[in-house]
Amino acid sequence: MTRLYLSPPHLGDCEAAFVQEAFASNWIAPLGPQIDAFEREFCARVGALHAAAVSSGTAALHLAVRLVGVGPGDEVLCSTLTFVASAAPIVYQGASPVFVDSEPTSWNMDPSLLAEELDRCARRGRLPRAVILVHLYGQSADIDPIRAACDRHGVALIEDAAEALGATYHGLSPGTFGRIGIFSFNGNKIITTSGGGMLVSNDVALIREAKALATQARDPAPHYEHSRLGYNYRMSNVLAAVGRGQLLVLEERVRRRRWNFEFYRRTLEGVPGLRFMPEAPYGQSSRWLTIILIDPEEFGATAEDVRCALEDRDIESRPVWKPMHLQPVFRSARRVGGSVAEDLFRRGLCLPSGSQMTDCDLTRVVETILGCARSAGHFVRSRGSGPPAKALP
Ligand SMILES: *Cc1c(COP(=O)(O)O)cnc(C)c1O
Repeated sequence: MTRLYLSPPHLGDCEAAFVQEAFASNWIAPLGPQIDAFEREFCARVGALHAAAVSSGTAALHLAVRLVGVGPGDEVLCSTLTFVASAAPIVYQGASPVFVDSEPTSWNMDPSLLAEELDRCARRGRLPRAVILVHLYGQSADIDPIRAACDRHGVALIEDAAEALGATYHGLSPGTFGRIGIFSFNGNKIITTSGGGMLVSNDVALIREAKALATQARDPAPHYEHSRLGYNYRMSNVLAAVGRGQLLVLEERVRRRRWNFEFYRRTLEGVPGLRFMPEAPYGQSSRWLTIILIDPEEFGATAEDVRCALEDRDIESRPVWKPMHLQPVFRSARRVGGSVAEDLFRRGLCLPSGSQMTDCDLTRVVETILGCARSAGHFVRSRGSGPPAKALP
């Protein structure tokens, strides 16, 4: 039996042709026509006006916080339940993160907590420079009230949509509502360029500036002239070619990941002490990952027990992100709430969710999880290993 990974890359049929195009034109250098095309096609897909393709989602976030003027002494509010890359660029800029708790409906930043905190900051006369809103595990945060609170106080909204490409919020793509949105094409994301990221905005000047900073911030002169420092953050033309191919199969990948979720839900629903990450009513999750919550009392085993049982059968699973306010590196950071995120971390487990998983792979995961409940002495009726009744699209 081969190892089942959480979210491995999944190539389509067209990537090689686009890469071949890049090779045939001898355009291997960073920048080139594949990049321009990828940016254009990406904008059309998510509904943004302008985009800059960069070397990673982290690079995109670093550019974003710098572009909205985050600097030493500033505070930046950020979702606490996320991957470290959401918050690290705040510190790269010499600013301090303040971590905001999740709400139970979407697991993303709690709009009321954020609004209260912004009001409090305004009263003491020290507003944060920006808010970094993360859209977790393929599900959009509740953007409207969050954007309204930011607008009320004139605070820049940056959306970390690294995990949410293909999701919707009232029919539109998360990542396109704030001043800047970022996406990631890391190997484990819903589509990949092996490594890469995208920064989108409706402000053309901002994207022009992002591209300048991402190519060492050269002043306009025939020689190399620099009045400020930039970075080497641009995506290569070859990887943009891979991205173009991946963009063509995005829709299919979303459908497949949602199918994985449906399979898990139908085969595990009703098991005592086991619940799924909810889907908020305002949009559609891409179900980048399927996540279960385990109540050890009811289920008879902890999330860690289940993780170990899966690992014994060569199946990768992972706990939900450890909240940033619990991370040793951020121990002195300010925080607003935190108990919801802590609870999700304690009980949550991310299941294999790759878009090339077969029903047989999914059954292997389900049977192992059911086995944990059974060995804990609970009577769990297996629903058989047949696929859900609905046909695969
Ligand atoms: C993956 C990820 C990033 C970083 O993207 P990279 O391309 O890996 O640098 C940022 N934020 C979140 C929430 C992510 O999941």
